[in-house]
Amino acid sequence: MSDLPNIILIVLDTVRADRLSCYGHHLPTTPNLDRLARESVLYRQATAPACWTLPSHASLFTGLYPSEHGAETTTMPPPPVPTLAELLRDAGYATIALCRNPWMGRATELQRGFEDCPEVWVRPKLPLPARLLTRARNVLGLAETGARETTELVMDRIRRAHEPYFLFVNYMDVHPPSRHTSPFLPPRIGRMEAFVGRLRHISQTKRGKQWDALVSGSPRSLDLLNRMYDNDLHYLDANLGRLFDFLGEAGRAERTLLIVTSDHGENLGEHNLLWHFFSLHDTLLRVPLIARWPGAIPGAALVDAQVQLTDILPTLAARLGIETLPALSSGPRPHLDLFDLDALSRSESPAYAEHQVPPILDKWAARSTKYDFEPLRRDLRAVRTVSHKYIEASRGEPSLFDLTEDPGETTNLIHSRAEVAGSLAAELHAWASAPRARHRQAAESADEDLVSQRLQELGYL
Ligand SMILES: [Zn+2]
Repeated sequence: MSDLPNIILIVLDTVRADRLSCYGHHLPTTPNLDRLARESVLYRQATAPACWTLPSHASLFTGLYPSEHGAETTTMPPPPVPTLAELLRDAGYATIALCRNPWMGRATELQRGFEDCPEVWVRPKLPLPARLLTRARNVLGLAETGARETTELVMDRIRRAHEPYFLFVNYMDVHPPSRHTSPFLPPRIGRMEAFVGRLRHISQTKRGKQWDALVSGSPRSLDLLNRMYDNDLHYLDANLGRLFDFLGEAGRAERTLLIVTSDHGENLGEHNLLWHFFSLHDTLLRVPLIARWPGAIPGAALVDAQVQLTDILPTLAARLGIETLPALSSGPRPHLDLFDLDALSRSESPAYAEHQVPPILDKWAARSTKYDFEPLRRDLRAVRTVSHKYIEASRGEPSLFDLTEDPGETTNLIHSRAEVAGSLAAELHAWASAPRARHRQAAESADEDLVSQRLQELGYL
């Protein structure tokens, strides 16, 4: 058996940190992740460098920021930029990806380096009775949204994999439009109202009209949307519990480095926004990050330093003695070693994020005609410290939020705290203009037809 640990990296797509009970949510949404956190390092201020799937996964897999890797509307940067899977494969790991998210396919090359990467999202055509049963379960809000099936695939691969293996898993259960309606219901909303509201929400989403609901919808419909999101997370957590139990058998957990995180969060009416574009608020950037590696890193530890998804690749590479791009340690924000808790306790490194206007804005604007998308037509970049976040837009006023007093980022302090804003603006500009390798020019455009087809499958279009 190899001395190298098996590595399991799980992305809970679209899961924002503040909805996990171990991150302080008032509902018991995640008893199994809470259990994992008690044996792990939990990073309280972990952020994504981008607010949606493609650039965020590209950052996770390369350690680069979106303006460096360029995978916002294009594919992953080509070789010689190595991906995490390529680095581990070349170090002797079997590399496996099990993903429900179609972005992990040929259209974007996010799968580069994975030797075993089945297109799990491609569904075989079921016989009519099975299709009717599935549809009935969907209508009733009892759908198997993928977590059970994915978990079974994961356990099957683990039973058969040659060690050491690197297993990447992306769970899509919290990604709309499928929504569970139990166990959490909003106060004063009964089961029938929840059922009807859920059907309305799914119908609006499928027609691209969900944004109009922000104009004409009621606060009750947003309450319901929030609880459906919690319910989806609870369903996902129950299946993660099965996986954690399985890892606990036969000493598997002892030789496994397990990391659970997310690629971005979700706006559920906050900032007058839905979904996960157009904003660098914490609803989208702040993600869970939990790491367990028995015997190598402490259990039941909390980290308050600003860490990012871009720190995962360099941390793993350093621990395993693998060479990476020099830019990761000498660029404008040198990476943090996620497992050096002493150094992290002294770290004052800020976090950064970027967003380009995505083409999907025009598609949504054509369908949700009551909602005004024009103010969202701007690129964004942000710097986040322990106390504040400064967000700059390519047009319009910048924003400054006090994350301690106002974690919901509702009050813009750009004028009342001009000194803090000026200092963070200077820091952001220094970071953005620092010399660094940019790989975006070499990247090719993603296959438009494949991407469009996948956006439709995900309910974006
Ligand atoms: Zn995503």
